Amino acid sequence: MKRGLQDLCPKNEEISLFGSRASRNAIHTSAAYICSSPDEANLKLGRQLQGYVYQRDGHPNADSLATKCRQLHEADHAVVTSSGMSATALAIVSQLAAGDHVLLSHRLYGRTSTLLQTELVRFGVTSSLVDMSDYESVEKLAPANVRMLIVETISNPDLRVVDLRELARIAQRLEALLLVDNTFASPIVCRPLALGADLVVESLTKVMNGHGDVTMGLLCARGGIWERVPAALASWGMTAGPFDCWLAERGLATLFLRMSTASENAKKIAIQLSQLAAIDSVSYPGLESHADHPTAIAQFGKHQDQPLFGNMVTISLGGGWEAASRFIGAASKIPFCPSLGELSTTLSHPVSTSHRSYPAEVLRSMGISGGTIRLSIGLESPEFILAAIQEAADALDS
Ligand SMILES: *Cc1c(COP(=O)(O)O)cnc(C)c1O
Repeated sequence: MKRGLQDLCPKNEEISLFGSRASRNAIHTSAAYICSSPDEANLKLGRQLQGYVYQRDGHPNADSLATKCRQLHEADHAVVTSSGMSATALAIVSQLAAGDHVLLSHRLYGRTSTLLQTELVRFGVTSSLVDMSDYESVEKLAPANVRMLIVETISNPDLRVVDLRELARIAQRLEALLLVDNTFASPIVCRPLALGADLVVESLTKVMNGHGDVTMGLLCARGGIWERVPAALASWGMTAGPFDCWLAERGLATLFLRMSTASENAKKIAIQLSQLAAIDSVSYPGLESHADHPTAIAQFGKHQDQPLFGNMVTISLGGGWEAASRFIGAASKIPFCPSLGELSTTLSHPVSTSHRSYPAEVLRSMGISGGTIRLSIGLESPEFILAAIQEAADALDS
């Protein structure tokens, strides 16, 4: 009986490019690479010889993307991972052990707190929440076994900015590592390693890829603390796939253009919204009224001599959950899409999404209410975005 093709091993040399050189990266989907000898396999897997053997241990598309991210952060080392959360998990499992303690900013992305407080605690890594902008307390509250501090460059969703240089000094005195989640800033707005952070994570899912079609993360660091990272990445199976890496690398090519345009838009929008009677308060680090405006100016980058403050603007409606529902229902041109950093403007409602697990009193202490709406400003014209917000705000008066 005929069984069709007998030789199922692909012959790459049969796909001729006629001597042409492709101008774009290929996508290397191979789960495994052909080894010419046991010695070669052994040396490559032992990292004594460059090259690839098995996709989970490393592949060309991941390396190509990681190299670009490393350059953007001026880091000594970088790896990309299957999500922003796996990048944070990788930082912890590669650097800490049972008995170690982590100080968490009380303004963290909900899942990061959950990772520490319900998952890693079962492995003996304990953690506690602190107000990272209360620098004296951070040092006083730190137990003797503290080994890591975790904070966000621009916090979600209240957009507070902490002094990273000060926290780096405190971490050093405590002999702990400072891990900064730089997702809301991206390296275009802030490079925490240059301010003294030891490790930086980003969710590439957000503005780094910027097209809303990939879930990925980045971990990068200065020298000296990297030794355990590659083996931890492969052993915990946190590697990102080739196609996602390829997409994210394509997105990254326009990061500077996207982030500078979206940040400039966000500043204009924040100024305009501050004057809208229907909106009770506007939080944006680029506004002089923002409590952390001087800190933001001191540590954020510039474009055409103008400081950049990111693309996120958070507004608060006095009418609470009910007002937020009306606003969201009337915002026909701004999708309620609980992510951020996409090409177009989107909005999210933290109390029903990213922060739904927080108790009411914690939300109050973070200044979050049912009326809090987080806008991720995109690349449309500022006039279009303002009109789209005005349309939603008009529904509040009626
Ligand atoms: C989305 C996000 C994460 C998690 O990233 P994923 O790619 O969704 O796993 C972590 N921190 C912040 C600030 C985020 O916005």
